[in-house]
Amino acid sequence: MDLPPPEHTLAFVGTHVRLPTIGELTISSEQGLVLVDSRSGAIAAIVDLASEDEATQAARAHLALLVPAQVTKIRRAQFLMPGFVDGHAHAPQYAFHGTGLDLPLLDWLERYTFPTESKFKDVNYARRIYASAVARHLRYGTTTCAYFGTIHREATEELVRQVRTAGQRAHVGKVSMDRNSPPNYIEPSAEVAAAESALFVSNVLASRAKEEPHGVGVGGKRPALVTPAVIPRFAPSCTPPLMKALGELSRRGDGSGQKLPVHTHLSENASECAWVAEMHPEASCYADVYKRSGLLHERTYFAHCCHCNRTERTLLHEHGAGVVHCAASNFLVGGALCNVRRWLEEGVPVALGTDVSGGWSASMLDAIRQSVITSNLVSRMPDEEQPTRKWKPLSWQETLWLATQGGANVLGLGDVTGGLEPGRQFDALLVDVAPLCGGSFCVFDEDDVLTSLEKFLFTGDDRHIISVYVAGRRVAGASHAAYREHGDAAEAGKEADAVIKNAKTIRERAADENPRPLKMPKAK
Ligand SMILES: [Zn+2]
Repeated sequence: MDLPPPEHTLAFVGTHVRLPTIGELTISSEQGLVLVDSRSGAIAAIVDLASEDEATQAARAHLALLVPAQVTKIRRAQFLMPGFVDGHAHAPQYAFHGTGLDLPLLDWLERYTFPTESKFKDVNYARRIYASAVARHLRYGTTTCAYFGTIHREATEELVRQVRTAGQRAHVGKVSMDRNSPPNYIEPSAEVAAAESALFVSNVLASRAKEEPHGVGVGGKRPALVTPAVIPRFAPSCTPPLMKALGELSRRGDGSGQKLPVHTHLSENASECAWVAEMHPEASCYADVYKRSGLLHERTYFAHCCHCNRTERTLLHEHGAGVVHCAASNFLVGGALCNVRRWLEEGVPVALGTDVSGGWSASMLDAIRQSVITSNLVSRMPDEEQPTRKWKPLSWQETLWLATQGGANVLGLGDVTGGLEPGRQFDALLVDVAPLCGGSFCVFDEDDVLTSLEKFLFTGDDRHIISVYVAGRRVAGASHAAYREHGDAAEAGKEADAVIKNAKTIRERAADENPRPLKMPKAK
């Protein structure tokens, strides 16, 4: 076990929930311990102090070297869990979230979406909406989010700044559209659209060191918070020359040898699929249109994928692409169901997405609930492709994994985030099932942590998410004054005194060895 120096360690003592593989869920005792390297933001060790193995002994000895301010004590009725990964959200559509859900996809785009997105030409307007959108996603526990911007490069760069300032992890892309779009919301040519996307990517990469002071650059150890993505809105709104240029841009990559993610829509709605088939008779299926442009590869992920036949599914599997299941918007503007278990059985990774604002809620808790409902519906409906097949519904544990590690895997960030595992970034939620404000549900004495977690997933809200951590930093959380006074680091530090009372404090040790004052991590 490779532990950081004590002065660069943060500790979280209490119950934690881990989801090592899909459907598997482990819960530590109240003596769980997570040690985080404050320089890299990564989890250095995760043990249960109730056990006595060698790793636990080393972690316990390390804990004893920390001062109270470095230790967060997780109280009864609280637990740590991995942060949510939202695989598909439209940041500009946050402006009208919760409204305009009465139309099918193509009409909805024309009536609600394009008029709103066209306003993002104004960077000041963009700043206002994006600041609120990012804050909302983060407060709801989304530690990593895959955002669409608009066709406006400068406004989308403003979205990147807002994400970085808030301290969220994200994929962000400028949207490309050069056909079948309204006159005030279309790019003038494939060349201009491709050049603007390329400039967006290079600006985001070039501004990393300056705009991510808490990210890259700290000893070169932290993964970047923001990854630029390539976003053809969907095949109907991009000409083949534009899609080809975007395919090349994604394959040129970020300079580290890795391709850039491609984030787009696929087979959401029956009219859309028919339209694409009419426009592209040369393609064997909708996904083949993307493939022919070089846009289908292992860093590509598609929102929706409700109507994919076997040919299309095989194509995604062969190219290592992923699916983002957006249950709420599939019910509404998409008008279709996605059989998630079939995708998983066929070896295609699946994330969950809120699809704000085709989905009304920016909360991944809602995405989990809608996914469970969808899965139950799918299990009860006849399957046209396999009439004798009875599909097993997804369990809530499987669905939670899709909302965390599954999402990270689809975004190509599976080694970086998604789970409470050594080496991953500490992107986590501190959940309180009995918050001081009362919250949205009740737990009873006989409810164990598993039951409390399930209640939180199905009936909880952001009042229960008292801290949101990204890369080891507290970046959001329920803001009740009571928590500031009693609920977080201050009280945790006091309680942790008991754990480390026999230890010589690190402050004293540092004074012995090095007279410089210690830099303590800043609580936000
Ligand atoms: Zn979408």
